[in-house]
Amino acid sequence: MITSLLIANRGEIACRIIRTARRMGIRTVAVYSDADANARHVRSADEAVHIGPSPARESYLVGDKIIAAAKATGAQAIHPGYGFLSENADFAQAVADAGLIWVGATPHSIRAMGLKDAAKSLMQAAGVPVTPGYLGEDQSPDRLKSEADAIGYPVLIKAVAGGGGKGMRRVDAPADFADALTSCKREAAASFGDDRVLIEKYILSPRHIEVQVFGDTHGNIVHLFERDCSLQRRHQKVIEEAPAPGMDAATRESLCAAAVRAAKAVDYVGAGTIEFIADASAGLSADRIWFMEMNTRLQVEHPVTEEITGVDLVEWQLRVASGEPLPKRQDELSINGWAMEARLYAEDPAVGFLPSTGKLETLDMPSSVRVETGVEEGDTISPFYDPMIAKLVAHAPERDEACDLLSDACAQVLCAPVKSNAWFLKRLLSHPGFLAGDVTTGFIAQDEDALTASPQPSPTLLQEAAERLIFDGWNETSEWRPRSLDRTRGLIGFRLNAAAETRVTIYRDNELIEPFSYDLALYDGATIYETSTGSVLGGRDAIYFEDGAAFTFTRSAQVGAATDAGSGAILAPMPGRVITVEVTEGQSVTKGQKLLTLEAMKMEHTLTAPFNGTVATLSAAPGAQVQVEALLARIEPIAE
Ligand code: ADP
Repeated sequence: MITSLLIANRGEIACRIIRTARRMGIRTVAVYSDADANARHVRSADEAVHIGPSPARESYLVGDKIIAAAKATGAQAIHPGYGFLSENADFAQAVADAGLIWVGATPHSIRAMGLKDAAKSLMQAAGVPVTPGYLGEDQSPDRLKSEADAIGYPVLIKAVAGGGGKGMRRVDAPADFADALTSCKREAAASFGDDRVLIEKYILSPRHIEVQVFGDTHGNIVHLFERDCSLQRRHQKVIEEAPAPGMDAATRESLCAAAVRAAKAVDYVGAGTIEFIADASAGLSADRIWFMEMNTRLQVEHPVTEEITGVDLVEWQLRVASGEPLPKRQDELSINGWAMEARLYAEDPAVGFLPSTGKLETLDMPSSVRVETGVEEGDTISPFYDPMIAKLVAHAPERDEACDLLSDACAQVLCAPVKSNAWFLKRLLSHPGFLAGDVTTGFIAQDEDALTASPQPSPTLLQEAAERLIFDGWNETSEWRPRSLDRTRGLIGFRLNAAAETRVTIYRDNELIEPFSYDLALYDGATIYETSTGSVLGGRDAIYFEDGAAFTFTRSAQVGAATDAGSGAILAPMPGRVITVEVTEGQSVTKGQKLLTLEAMKMEHTLTAPFNGTVATLSAAPGAQVQVEALLARIEPIAE
């Protein structure tokens, strides 16, 4: 057995591999870039080697540095994880040439599966059903066009060297073919340095179903059943599950047998995945499921397979790489229950899934499910790598229970101020279509507006936050003093600012000494979490979490640290119109003196001087429309 292992990766997968290696008594070596100097995978490993600057092409993608790190630390083997160098045949070869053990597929298998057309022909020869289409050598536009016509539209043009969803064009009608071909070839040449394409029948109700396979160096190959990864956004997986909904035993048997044939065709060793595409327009049936491609590495979504089979796939990888036979025979493997994984990302689904970076000031993960993560509270999501925060994996006897468990877990994620997609995952997991198992790869796109609409705090949450802010303010120990407002009612408005944070604007009479009347009736049913570290985020903010979304509430009297009450800045508490200006620049004013009146939300608000002083600046004029927090005037205190 290997006794020391270098992990040529970062983030959750590096941590995941370290965990199993440690359990097996294997010494672990991490590698890291500048940005990851203090990353969790570095903290978790027994040893760590710096391999260069933050950009991956200068660190995690530089094979020579990684091999040198293994040599320097005496590591016997290298595990590539997924992504980065995991499917780089030249690197796999270089590792072997350096006398190290490569915990992955052989360079031969990686190459055989690297090009889509060659892989498809190989599979065809091995009796694995492939998507109907054209794989030919003849790349002339006329020939490609006539093949597309023969296949029948819609068709998909795919770069043979493509990957990651790039270099694909759907064509719906013969007249559009020539243009699509030109643009696909251009993209393929630019992205992969190879402009050859193949043509496939476009499957209209496609489901992505893949089979986990495993081979050893003794010629054994088994499958560990299927995963359904149909829930995708722009060809990127979002939620994965095992087994696949609606898969009957006969279809499973035929699909998994095809996957094993595929693996045998390349003498596969290690963990691999055979991806299939299913035409689900009339349920799942073996004659409408076709080979798409093989991934010659451990997949992101491998934990769902681990959950239903009870196998630690990383342990199997390490055993196989050490020359041991597979720990189980096919007839010793079976499916137990249902597993579902959600990919928690640092991104904002409400603004086109824009990645969100920065320090994870608050990060609290549910304890009800398995969490695979490479970060913890206080760590940073850097702009250099995939912004994944964690994978949440639920396992239960039945699909609906796994789904509920995962949905609740997503709702419990507390993440701020970095944005997360937890609320989006929660919505997906509660969607009736998903609950029915009725999912094709177009599912998210079909309902994207509703699924990504900015989350709104519930009335219960608003009320709770308002009470907290008001009563905290009421404790005279707090630094909060409502600025120059003369409304006696507490809460008069909520609004959403540009940063999509909800700000509760609370008004209270400056002079009032008794608490005003306030309706404390709470609505039932909503769960409100308050982060224990909310105060870390500035003291004046309260951050509340609901259904996976974070809402930041700020006392309007304290908006902007630079313009706090002591500075004498008079800011518009909400957007409105200046009605009267009672003072002139240079005039001296006394505390509480009326400065100006603003009309907003159909009410008039009088703004008064916070202390004795002079009107140093006056930027408000009667009739002017002002934005929230616009500087209306500045009072300078009189020097004592
Ligand atoms: P890549 O290597 O770029 O990931 P794949 O061949 O694996 O490309 O396809 C990626 C995704 O594109 C699949 O998961 C599926 O959603 C879609 N897709 C691929 N082939 C077809 C097809 N023939 N018809 C419809 N959708 C397809």
